[in-house]
Amino acid sequence: MRAAPFEIPGATELERLVARSRLIGADPALVLHGGGNTSSKIVERDHVGRERIVLRIKGTGMDLATIGPDGFAGLFLDELLLLQERESMPDEEVIDYVARCLVDPRAPRPSIETLLHAFVPATHVDHVHADAVCALANGRKSRSIVHDALGKDVASIGYVRPGFELSRRVAEACSDHRAAVLLKHGLVTWGETHEASYGLMLDLVERAETYLSERTRRPRPRTVPDIGDDDLAEILTRLRGRLSRTRRQVLLVDRSQRWLADRRDVADIASARATPDHLLRISTGGIVVVTAAEVEPAVDGFESAYRAYFDRNRVRLPAGTPMRSPLPNVILVPGLGCVTASSDARSARVNAELALHSHSVGAHLLDGLDELEGLSDEEAFDVDYWPSELYKLTLAPPPPEFSGHVVLVTGAASGIGREIAIDL
Ligand code: ZN
Repeated sequence: MRAAPFEIPGATELERLVARSRLIGADPALVLHGGGNTSSKIVERDHVGRERIVLRIKGTGMDLATIGPDGFAGLFLDELLLLQERESMPDEEVIDYVARCLVDPRAPRPSIETLLHAFVPATHVDHVHADAVCALANGRKSRSIVHDALGKDVASIGYVRPGFELSRRVAEACSDHRAAVLLKHGLVTWGETHEASYGLMLDLVERAETYLSERTRRPRPRTVPDIGDDDLAEILTRLRGRLSRTRRQVLLVDRSQRWLADRRDVADIASARATPDHLLRISTGGIVVVTAAEVEPAVDGFESAYRAYFDRNRVRLPAGTPMRSPLPNVILVPGLGCVTASSDARSARVNAELALHSHSVGAHLLDGLDELEGLSDEEAFDVDYWPSELYKLTLAPPPPEFSGHVVLVTGAASGIGREIAIDL
């Protein structure tokens, strides 16, 4: 087990929690862009001076890599634990109830996984979407593979969208397991010290990585010639046009995904989603485009399939809920890599990073370990249209004036041109 530097002299428990969280957030193989969450149960004084146990948990949408003490919400644990007597509780009621347990009502909205952290009877809890664990957990035989790879003392919990039910299932698993894999989702570890929870998480991720490397073999790469400059320009121009019909999009080319785009099973890779968190941003799947002539049919095919999926499942939503964008924002191009679309370059880059990790998880699993088994139609839809998670995306600032535009600034090496480029 790798040592963790949490014994910071004079630091408070909250400061140690911040240090642990940042360490987790700094590793993209564990979590990406607001994914995952961490908590500690800490004795604090309430507003009238009583000592109470407070659950300090990451605020929703906060990034573990950069989180500070203010990024954690505090909730009175005894009030949360009263809910353990219930059989079920809809998300909206959980959110209302949890808001009333806040130590400081001005704190950030606590994570949707607050009850999971509260119900686990350990002082410290970590939840990550580690690539290696997600590779074990996204196939048809995941349950037995997880047991084989990580041991029988690690629970594997069938997919259920985070909320009350998942919190109960994880809490039940605690009594005779030391950690839990949430199938098609991620990993939860716990411990009585920061080091114990964090160390166990690293240990299990390492075991998952070793298991994968010992049991899978990368297929021999298919020889795909580099895409020519003219073909690339044509593909990108057509893509941008087709994807910008309702809202302007910019494209980002990620050549680091060439090894994924060149695989024979590239269509399966395009459909892989490591964890529900990724699906929220990069949709339920992507497309594969080999030539410029395929752009329109591929985008249109994705769109009509998405519209049909929305129509099939819309009864699960309050009447009048609008459809999210029916267009793909991740495109795999053999001979090139991956192209992602978004309203600005920064979020296109985020999409590329999420796609890289989702695609890699799919590839690791498909390299002789198991068959890929994504979320069912209904499970995917319930994530895609998950009100409490869509709330996270609404926290993003509104698109700036030139969102979706590509601006060419001449003379930008110095003077006025440079200032304009910086301003943009
Ligand atoms: Zn999660």
